[in-house]
Amino acid sequence: MQYVGYWSYLLISLVLAVILLFNTFHPPIAMKSALIRSTFENKFKQSPEILVNAPGRINLIGEHTDYNDGFVLPAAIDKSIVFAVGKRTDNLLKFHSVDLDESFEIPLEDLKKSDKSWANYLIGVTKELIDNNHEIPTGFELTFGGDIPLGAGLSSSAAVACGLGFALNELFDLKLDRKDLALIAQKAEHNFAGVNCGIMDMYASLFGVENEVILLDCRDIRHRYFAFDFPDYAIVLCNTGVKHNLADSEYNTRRKECEAGVYLLQQINPEIKSLRDVSVSFFAKHRTKLPLLEMKRCRFVVTEIERVVWGCEALSQGDLRMFGSYMYQTHWGLSGDYEVSCKELDFLVKNTEQSEAVLGSRMMGGGFGGCTINIVRKDVVNDFIKKQTADYKEQFDLKLDCYVVKPSDGVKLV
Ligand code: ADP
Ligand code: MG
Repeated sequence: MQYVGYWSYLLISLVLAVILLFNTFHPPIAMKSALIRSTFENKFKQSPEILVNAPGRINLIGEHTDYNDGFVLPAAIDKSIVFAVGKRTDNLLKFHSVDLDESFEIPLEDLKKSDKSWANYLIGVTKELIDNNHEIPTGFELTFGGDIPLGAGLSSSAAVACGLGFALNELFDLKLDRKDLALIAQKAEHNFAGVNCGIMDMYASLFGVENEVILLDCRDIRHRYFAFDFPDYAIVLCNTGVKHNLADSEYNTRRKECEAGVYLLQQINPEIKSLRDVSVSFFAKHRTKLPLLEMKRCRFVVTEIERVVWGCEALSQGDLRMFGSYMYQTHWGLSGDYEVSCKELDFLVKNTEQSEAVLGSRMMGGGFGGCTINIVRKDVVNDFIKKQTADYKEQFDLKLDCYVVKPSDGVKLV
Protein backbone atom coordinates (compact mmCIF):
# COMPACT_ATOMS: atom_id res chain seq x y z
CA MET A 1 0.00 0.00 0.00
CA GLN A 2 2.80 2.32 0.97
CA TYR A 3 4.51 1.35 -2.28
CA VAL A 4 1.46 2.43 -4.37
CA GLY A 5 1.31 5.71 -2.43
CA TYR A 6 4.93 6.39 -3.26
CA TRP A 7 4.43 5.82 -7.00
CA SER A 8 1.26 7.88 -7.24
CA TYR A 9 3.04 10.68 -5.36
CA LEU A 10 5.90 10.49 -7.84
CA LEU A 11 3.53 10.44 -10.82
CA ILE A 12 1.56 13.48 -9.60
CA SER A 13 4.82 15.38 -8.99
CA LEU A 14 6.00 14.50 -12.48
CA VAL A 15 2.74 15.68 -14.08
CA LEU A 16 2.88 18.92 -12.07
CA ALA A 17 6.50 19.48 -13.11
CA VAL A 18 5.61 18.95 -16.80
CA ILE A 19 2.67 21.38 -16.53
CA LEU A 20 4.88 23.94 -14.79
CA LEU A 21 7.60 23.58 -17.42
CA PHE A 22 5.05 23.77 -20.23
CA ASN A 23 3.48 26.92 -18.82
CA THR A 24 6.86 28.52 -18.27
CA PHE A 25 7.64 28.28 -21.95
CA HIS A 26 4.10 28.60 -23.38
CA PRO A 27 2.31 30.53 -20.72
CA PRO A 28 -1.38 31.27 -21.03
CA ILE A 29 -1.65 30.73 -24.81
CA ALA A 30 -1.38 26.97 -24.30
CA MET A 31 -3.98 26.98 -21.54
CA LYS A 32 -6.38 29.18 -23.51
CA SER A 33 -5.94 27.04 -26.62
CA ALA A 34 -6.73 23.84 -24.75
CA LEU A 35 -10.06 25.26 -23.57
CA ILE A 36 -11.02 26.71 -26.96
CA ARG A 37 -10.06 23.47 -28.71
CA SER A 38 -11.95 21.22 -26.32
CA THR A 39 -15.05 23.44 -26.55
CA PHE A 40 -14.80 23.17 -30.35
CA GLU A 41 -14.62 19.38 -30.14
CA ASN A 42 -17.61 19.22 -27.79
CA LYS A 43 -19.75 21.59 -29.89
CA PHE A 44 -18.88 20.39 -33.37
CA LYS A 45 -17.90 16.74 -32.78
CA GLN A 46 -14.68 17.03 -34.75
CA SER A 47 -11.22 18.55 -34.33
CA PRO A 48 -10.53 22.11 -35.49
CA GLU A 49 -8.31 22.49 -38.55
CA ILE A 50 -6.43 25.46 -37.12
CA LEU A 51 -5.89 27.39 -33.92
CA VAL A 52 -5.02 31.09 -34.07
CA ASN A 53 -3.82 33.43 -31.32
CA ALA A 54 -4.76 37.11 -31.77
CA PRO A 55 -3.42 39.67 -29.25
CA GLY A 56 -4.79 42.94 -27.92
CA ARG A 57 -2.61 46.05 -28.02
CA ILE A 58 -1.26 48.97 -26.06
CA ASN A 59 -0.04 52.32 -27.37
CA LEU A 60 3.13 53.57 -25.70
CA ILE A 61 2.91 57.11 -27.02
CA GLY A 62 1.22 59.04 -29.86
CA GLU A 63 -2.38 59.80 -28.92
CA HIS A 64 -4.88 61.55 -31.25
CA THR A 65 -2.11 61.66 -33.85
CA ASP A 66 -3.49 58.98 -36.20
CA TYR A 67 -6.20 61.13 -37.80
CA ASN A 68 -3.67 63.96 -38.14
CA ASP A 69 -1.42 61.80 -40.38
CA GLY A 70 1.09 61.49 -37.52
CA PHE A 71 2.91 58.66 -35.75
CA VAL A 72 1.75 56.16 -33.14
CA LEU A 73 3.84 53.65 -31.16
CA PRO A 74 1.72 50.58 -30.37
CA ALA A 75 2.65 47.01 -29.47
CA ALA A 76 0.73 43.74 -29.40
CA ILE A 77 0.49 42.31 -25.87
CA ASP A 78 0.45 38.96 -24.11
CA LYS A 79 -3.30 39.09 -23.64
CA SER A 80 -5.11 37.51 -26.53
CA ILE A 81 -8.07 35.75 -28.03
CA VAL A 82 -7.68 32.22 -29.35
CA PHE A 83 -9.76 30.88 -32.26
CA ALA A 84 -10.37 27.25 -33.17
CA VAL A 85 -11.71 27.05 -36.72
CA GLY A 86 -12.75 24.34 -39.17
CA LYS A 87 -14.55 24.20 -42.53
CA ARG A 88 -18.16 23.11 -42.96
CA THR A 89 -19.76 21.73 -46.10
CA ASP A 90 -23.26 23.19 -45.76
CA ASN A 91 -22.53 26.90 -46.33
CA LEU A 92 -23.36 27.77 -42.75
CA LEU A 93 -21.26 29.89 -40.38
CA LYS A 94 -21.45 28.70 -36.76
CA PHE A 95 -19.81 30.73 -34.00
CA HIS A 96 -19.49 30.04 -30.30
CA SER A 97 -18.16 32.61 -27.85
CA VAL A 98 -16.61 30.70 -24.96
CA ASP A 99 -16.36 33.79 -22.73
CA LEU A 100 -19.98 34.83 -23.19
CA ASP A 101 -21.22 31.24 -23.53
CA GLU A 102 -23.33 32.22 -26.53
CA SER A 103 -23.75 30.68 -29.97
CA PHE A 104 -24.77 32.17 -33.27
CA GLU A 105 -25.26 30.92 -36.80
CA ILE A 106 -25.91 32.53 -40.17
CA PRO A 107 -26.00 31.28 -43.79
CA LEU A 108 -23.05 32.26 -45.96
CA GLU A 109 -25.37 33.67 -48.67
CA ASP A 110 -27.14 36.00 -46.27
CA LEU A 111 -24.45 37.85 -44.31
CA LYS A 112 -25.95 40.91 -42.66
CA LYS A 113 -25.66 42.80 -39.39
CA SER A 114 -27.14 40.94 -36.43
CA ASP A 115 -28.31 42.18 -33.05
CA LYS A 116 -25.55 40.16 -31.31
CA SER A 117 -22.77 42.70 -31.25
CA TRP A 118 -19.91 40.18 -30.80
CA ALA A 119 -21.07 38.21 -33.85
CA ASN A 120 -20.98 41.35 -36.00
CA TYR A 121 -17.17 41.45 -35.95
CA LEU A 122 -17.11 37.89 -37.32
CA ILE A 123 -19.88 38.41 -39.88
CA GLY A 124 -18.24 41.71 -40.85
CA VAL A 125 -14.82 40.19 -41.55
CA THR A 126 -16.33 37.37 -43.62
CA LYS A 127 -18.51 39.80 -45.59
CA GLU A 128 -15.64 42.24 -46.23
CA LEU A 129 -13.48 39.37 -47.53
CA ILE A 130 -16.23 38.24 -49.90
CA ASP A 131 -16.98 41.81 -51.02
CA ASN A 132 -13.27 42.19 -51.83
CA ASN A 133 -13.45 39.11 -54.12
CA HIS A 134 -11.84 36.63 -51.75
CA GLU A 135 -13.66 33.36 -52.06
CA ILE A 136 -15.00 31.63 -48.96
CA PRO A 137 -16.26 28.55 -50.84
CA THR A 138 -17.89 26.68 -47.95
CA GLY A 139 -19.11 27.59 -44.52
CA PHE A 140 -16.99 27.34 -41.38
CA GLU A 141 -17.41 26.91 -37.64
CA LEU A 142 -15.45 28.34 -34.78
CA THR A 143 -15.07 28.75 -31.05
CA PHE A 144 -13.15 31.66 -29.57
CA GLY A 145 -12.29 33.35 -26.29
CA GLY A 146 -9.41 34.73 -24.26
CA ASP A 147 -8.21 37.10 -21.60
CA ILE A 148 -8.31 40.60 -23.14
CA PRO A 149 -10.66 42.63 -20.94
CA LEU A 150 -13.60 43.80 -23.07
CA GLY A 151 -14.04 47.50 -23.64
CA ALA A 152 -10.98 48.49 -21.56
CA GLY A 153 -9.16 50.09 -24.49
CA LEU A 154 -6.90 47.10 -25.19
CA SER A 155 -8.64 46.46 -28.52
CA SER A 156 -10.30 43.16 -27.85
CA SER A 157 -12.49 43.99 -30.85
CA ALA A 158 -9.48 44.28 -33.17
CA ALA A 159 -8.17 40.96 -31.85
CA VAL A 160 -11.52 39.33 -32.69
CA ALA A 161 -11.59 40.77 -36.21
CA CYS A 162 -7.89 40.20 -36.99
CA GLY A 163 -7.93 36.70 -35.52
CA LEU A 164 -10.77 35.59 -37.77
CA GLY A 165 -9.33 37.32 -40.86
CA PHE A 166 -6.01 35.56 -40.29
CA ALA A 167 -7.75 32.20 -39.72
CA LEU A 168 -9.85 32.43 -42.89
CA ASN A 169 -6.78 33.49 -44.88
CA GLU A 170 -5.04 30.29 -43.73
CA LEU A 171 -8.05 28.01 -43.98
CA PHE A 172 -9.08 29.05 -47.52
CA ASP A 173 -5.60 30.01 -48.74
CA LEU A 174 -6.66 33.56 -49.68
CA LYS A 175 -3.06 34.79 -50.08
CA LEU A 176 -3.62 38.08 -48.23
CA ASP A 177 -0.74 39.76 -46.45
CA ARG A 178 -0.96 41.23 -42.95
CA LYS A 179 -1.61 44.73 -44.18
CA ASP A 180 -4.54 43.51 -46.32
CA LEU A 181 -5.91 41.74 -43.25
CA ALA A 182 -5.59 44.91 -41.14
CA LEU A 183 -7.58 46.87 -43.73
CA ILE A 184 -10.28 44.16 -43.93
CA ALA A 185 -10.61 44.09 -40.13
CA GLN A 186 -10.81 47.89 -40.02
CA LYS A 187 -13.59 47.90 -42.62
CA ALA A 188 -15.46 45.26 -40.61
CA GLU A 189 -15.33 47.53 -37.53
CA HIS A 190 -16.52 50.50 -39.59
CA ASN A 191 -19.34 48.76 -41.40
CA PHE A 192 -20.52 46.10 -38.95
CA ALA A 193 -19.67 47.45 -35.50
CA GLY A 194 -20.32 51.09 -36.46
CA VAL A 195 -17.00 52.25 -34.98
CA ASN A 196 -15.10 54.69 -37.16
CA CYS A 197 -11.67 53.61 -35.89
CA GLY A 198 -8.20 54.16 -37.34
CA ILE A 199 -5.89 51.37 -38.50
CA MET A 200 -3.58 51.30 -35.45
CA ASP A 201 -5.39 48.65 -33.41
CA MET A 202 -5.53 46.12 -36.23
CA TYR A 203 -2.04 46.93 -37.36
CA ALA A 204 -0.60 46.35 -33.90
CA SER A 205 -2.50 43.09 -33.41
CA LEU A 206 -1.18 41.78 -36.74
CA PHE A 207 2.35 43.21 -36.83
CA GLY A 208 3.39 42.80 -33.18
CA VAL A 209 6.81 41.33 -32.41
CA GLU A 210 7.98 40.16 -28.97
CA ASN A 211 9.89 42.89 -27.09
CA GLU A 212 9.43 45.42 -29.89
CA VAL A 213 7.19 48.44 -30.35
CA ILE A 214 5.87 49.49 -33.75
CA LEU A 215 6.46 53.00 -35.03
CA LEU A 216 3.53 53.33 -37.43
CA ASP A 217 3.39 56.23 -39.81
CA CYS A 218 -0.33 56.86 -40.21
CA ARG A 219 0.22 58.94 -43.34
CA ASP A 220 1.48 56.15 -45.57
CA ILE A 221 0.76 53.12 -43.34
CA ARG A 222 4.39 52.02 -43.09
CA HIS A 223 6.18 50.88 -39.98
CA ARG A 224 9.48 50.09 -38.33
CA TYR A 225 10.31 48.45 -35.05
CA PHE A 226 12.13 49.72 -31.96
CA ALA A 227 13.38 47.38 -29.24
CA PHE A 228 11.43 47.61 -25.99
CA ASP A 229 13.24 45.10 -23.84
CA PHE A 230 13.89 46.39 -20.33
CA PRO A 231 14.18 43.43 -17.94
CA ASP A 232 14.01 45.65 -14.82
CA TYR A 233 10.79 47.42 -15.81
CA ALA A 234 7.22 46.31 -16.41
CA ILE A 235 4.32 47.86 -18.28
CA VAL A 236 1.33 48.09 -15.95
CA LEU A 237 -2.15 49.11 -17.06
CA CYS A 238 -4.63 50.56 -14.57
CA ASN A 239 -8.22 50.30 -15.74
CA THR A 240 -10.36 53.11 -14.34
CA GLY A 241 -13.47 51.12 -15.20
CA VAL A 242 -15.16 54.36 -16.30
CA LYS A 243 -16.20 55.45 -19.78
CA HIS A 244 -17.74 58.92 -19.72
CA ASN A 245 -20.20 59.32 -22.55
CA LEU A 246 -18.49 62.47 -23.82
CA ALA A 247 -16.00 60.22 -25.61
CA ASP A 248 -17.70 59.93 -29.01
CA SER A 249 -18.98 63.48 -29.38
CA GLU A 250 -15.73 65.06 -28.16
CA TYR A 251 -13.72 62.82 -30.51
CA ASN A 252 -15.63 64.21 -33.48
CA THR A 253 -15.27 67.76 -32.12
CA ARG A 254 -11.47 67.32 -31.77
CA ARG A 255 -11.21 66.15 -35.36
CA LYS A 256 -13.09 69.27 -36.51
CA GLU A 257 -10.94 71.55 -34.31
CA CYS A 258 -7.78 70.09 -35.85
CA GLU A 259 -9.19 70.60 -39.36
CA ALA A 260 -10.02 74.20 -38.50
CA GLY A 261 -6.44 74.69 -37.29
CA VAL A 262 -5.04 73.17 -40.50
CA TYR A 263 -7.22 75.50 -42.57
CA LEU A 264 -5.85 78.57 -40.76
CA LEU A 265 -2.24 77.35 -40.97
CA GLN A 266 -2.74 76.75 -44.71
CA GLN A 267 -3.28 80.49 -45.08
CA ILE A 268 0.34 80.91 -43.97
CA ASN A 269 1.76 77.95 -45.90
CA PRO A 270 -0.49 76.32 -48.54
CA GLU A 271 1.76 73.23 -48.57
CA ILE A 272 0.30 72.20 -45.19
CA LYS A 273 -2.13 69.32 -45.73
CA SER A 274 -2.43 68.09 -42.15
CA LEU A 275 -0.90 68.77 -38.73
CA ARG A 276 1.81 66.26 -39.66
CA ASP A 277 3.19 68.94 -41.99
CA VAL A 278 3.56 71.47 -39.14
CA SER A 279 6.76 71.44 -37.10
CA VAL A 280 6.89 72.51 -33.45
CA SER A 281 9.08 75.49 -34.36
CA PHE A 282 6.81 76.64 -37.23
CA PHE A 283 3.83 76.36 -34.90
CA ALA A 284 5.51 78.35 -32.14
CA LYS A 285 6.14 81.15 -34.63
CA HIS A 286 2.58 81.32 -36.00
CA ARG A 287 0.36 80.08 -33.20
CA THR A 288 -1.05 83.54 -32.36
CA LYS A 289 -2.87 83.49 -35.70
CA LEU A 290 -5.15 80.78 -34.31
CA PRO A 291 -8.04 81.35 -31.86
CA LEU A 292 -7.13 80.09 -28.36
CA LEU A 293 -9.11 76.84 -28.56
CA GLU A 294 -7.74 75.72 -31.94
CA MET A 295 -4.28 76.87 -30.87
CA LYS A 296 -4.37 74.57 -27.83
CA ARG A 297 -5.68 71.57 -29.79
CA CYS A 298 -3.08 72.00 -32.54
CA ARG A 299 -0.28 72.68 -30.06
CA PHE A 300 -0.91 69.32 -28.46
CA VAL A 301 -1.03 67.38 -31.74
CA VAL A 302 1.99 69.06 -33.33
CA THR A 303 4.06 68.43 -30.20
CA GLU A 304 2.75 64.88 -29.77
CA ILE A 305 3.72 63.90 -33.32
CA GLU A 306 7.29 65.09 -32.71
CA ARG A 307 7.27 63.54 -29.24
CA VAL A 308 6.76 60.08 -30.75
CA VAL A 309 9.95 60.61 -32.77
CA TRP A 310 11.83 61.83 -29.67
CA GLY A 311 10.46 58.81 -27.79
CA CYS A 312 11.88 56.43 -30.42
CA GLU A 313 15.19 58.24 -30.23
CA ALA A 314 15.20 57.69 -26.44
CA LEU A 315 14.38 54.00 -26.91
CA SER A 316 17.17 53.51 -29.41
CA GLN A 317 19.54 54.95 -26.78
CA GLY A 318 18.06 52.63 -24.16
CA ASP A 319 16.92 55.67 -22.18
CA LEU A 320 13.65 54.51 -20.65
CA ARG A 321 13.68 57.33 -18.09
CA MET A 322 13.61 59.93 -20.86
CA PHE A 323 10.90 57.94 -22.66
CA GLY A 324 8.85 57.92 -19.46
CA SER A 325 9.15 61.69 -19.08
CA TYR A 326 7.63 62.04 -22.57
CA MET A 327 4.71 59.89 -21.44
CA TYR A 328 3.99 62.36 -18.61
CA GLN A 329 4.21 65.26 -21.07
CA THR A 330 1.71 63.46 -23.31
CA HIS A 331 -0.68 62.99 -20.42
CA TRP A 332 -0.68 66.59 -19.27
CA GLY A 333 -0.99 67.76 -22.88
CA LEU A 334 -4.03 65.53 -23.37
CA SER A 335 -5.45 66.80 -20.09
CA GLY A 336 -4.67 70.52 -20.44
CA ASP A 337 -4.48 71.45 -24.14
CA TYR A 338 -6.53 68.67 -25.68
CA GLU A 339 -9.02 68.30 -22.81
CA VAL A 340 -9.83 64.63 -23.30
CA SER A 341 -8.80 63.33 -19.86
CA CYS A 342 -11.05 63.02 -16.82
CA LYS A 343 -10.64 63.25 -13.06
CA GLU A 344 -10.10 59.49 -12.64
CA LEU A 345 -7.27 59.37 -15.21
CA ASP A 346 -5.66 62.57 -13.90
CA PHE A 347 -5.77 61.20 -10.36
CA LEU A 348 -4.07 57.92 -11.30
CA VAL A 349 -1.31 59.68 -13.24
CA LYS A 350 -0.73 62.31 -10.55
CA ASN A 351 -0.60 59.57 -7.93
CA THR A 352 2.54 58.14 -9.58
CA GLU A 353 4.48 61.37 -9.87
CA GLN A 354 6.26 61.18 -6.52
CA SER A 355 7.51 57.64 -7.05
CA GLU A 356 10.99 57.36 -8.52
CA ALA A 357 10.21 53.73 -9.40
CA VAL A 358 7.59 54.88 -11.92
CA LEU A 359 9.29 56.27 -15.02
CA GLY A 360 6.19 57.22 -16.99
CA SER A 361 2.42 57.30 -16.75
CA ARG A 362 -0.33 58.57 -19.00
CA MET A 363 -3.87 57.96 -20.11
CA MET A 364 -4.04 55.60 -23.08
CA GLY A 365 -6.62 55.76 -25.87
CA GLY A 366 -9.18 58.35 -26.91
CA GLY A 367 -9.82 59.56 -23.36
CA PHE A 368 -12.69 60.13 -20.88
CA GLY A 369 -11.94 56.74 -19.29
CA GLY A 370 -10.17 53.49 -20.06
CA CYS A 371 -6.67 52.69 -18.79
CA THR A 372 -3.53 54.48 -17.77
CA ILE A 373 -0.28 52.94 -18.99
CA ASN A 374 2.64 53.00 -16.57
CA ILE A 375 6.32 52.05 -16.72
CA VAL A 376 7.09 50.62 -13.29
CA ARG A 377 10.27 49.11 -11.81
CA LYS A 378 9.66 45.37 -11.57
CA ASP A 379 10.57 44.95 -7.91
CA VAL A 380 7.81 47.35 -6.82
CA VAL A 381 5.04 46.32 -9.23
CA ASN A 382 2.99 44.62 -6.50
CA ASP A 383 3.30 47.61 -4.17
CA PHE A 384 2.43 49.95 -7.04
CA ILE A 385 -0.74 48.00 -7.84
CA LYS A 386 -1.71 47.83 -4.16
CA LYS A 387 -1.27 51.57 -3.69
CA GLN A 388 -3.05 52.61 -6.89
CA THR A 389 -5.96 50.28 -6.08
CA ALA A 390 -6.33 51.47 -2.49
CA ASP A 391 -5.98 55.18 -3.30
CA TYR A 392 -8.41 54.93 -6.23
CA LYS A 393 -10.94 53.13 -4.02
CA GLU A 394 -10.59 55.79 -1.35
CA GLN A 395 -10.88 58.68 -3.79
CA PHE A 396 -13.72 57.46 -6.05
CA ASP A 397 -15.09 54.37 -4.30
CA LEU A 398 -14.33 52.48 -7.51
CA LYS A 399 -12.52 49.21 -8.16
CA LEU A 400 -9.28 49.44 -10.12
CA ASP A 401 -8.20 46.48 -12.27
CA CYS A 402 -4.50 46.32 -13.10
CA TYR A 403 -2.75 44.21 -15.73
CA VAL A 404 0.96 43.65 -16.29
CA VAL A 405 1.62 43.23 -20.02
CA LYS A 406 4.59 42.95 -22.36
CA PRO A 407 5.17 43.58 -26.08
CA SER A 408 4.41 40.28 -27.81
CA ASP A 409 4.03 38.60 -31.18
CA GLY A 410 1.16 39.55 -33.47
CA VAL A 411 -1.55 37.19 -34.73
CA LYS A 412 -0.16 33.73 -35.37
CA LEU A 413 -1.02 30.06 -35.64
CA VAL A 414 -0.82 28.23 -32.33
P1 ADP B 1 -12.12 47.19 -26.88
O1 ADP B 1 -11.82 46.91 -28.32
O2 ADP B 1 -11.45 48.42 -26.37
O3 ADP B 1 -11.88 46.03 -25.98
P2 ADP B 1 -14.74 47.51 -27.94
O4 ADP B 1 -16.01 48.03 -27.37
O5 ADP B 1 -14.22 48.12 -29.18
O6 ADP B 1 -13.67 47.52 -26.78
O7 ADP B 1 -14.91 45.96 -28.26
C1 ADP B 1 -15.48 45.08 -27.34
C2 ADP B 1 -16.45 44.17 -28.05
O8 ADP B 1 -15.72 43.19 -28.83
C3 ADP B 1 -17.29 43.36 -27.10
O9 ADP B 1 -18.44 44.06 -26.69
C4 ADP B 1 -17.63 42.14 -27.94
O10 ADP B 1 -18.67 42.43 -28.85
C5 ADP B 1 -16.35 41.93 -28.75
N1 ADP B 1 -15.44 41.02 -28.02
C6 ADP B 1 -14.19 41.31 -27.59
N2 ADP B 1 -13.63 40.26 -26.96
C7 ADP B 1 -14.53 39.30 -26.97
C8 ADP B 1 -14.56 37.96 -26.44
N3 ADP B 1 -13.53 37.44 -25.78
N4 ADP B 1 -15.69 37.23 -26.66
C9 ADP B 1 -16.74 37.74 -27.30
N5 ADP B 1 -16.78 38.99 -27.82
C10 ADP B 1 -15.69 39.76 -27.66
MG1 MG C 1 -12.31 48.19 -29.96
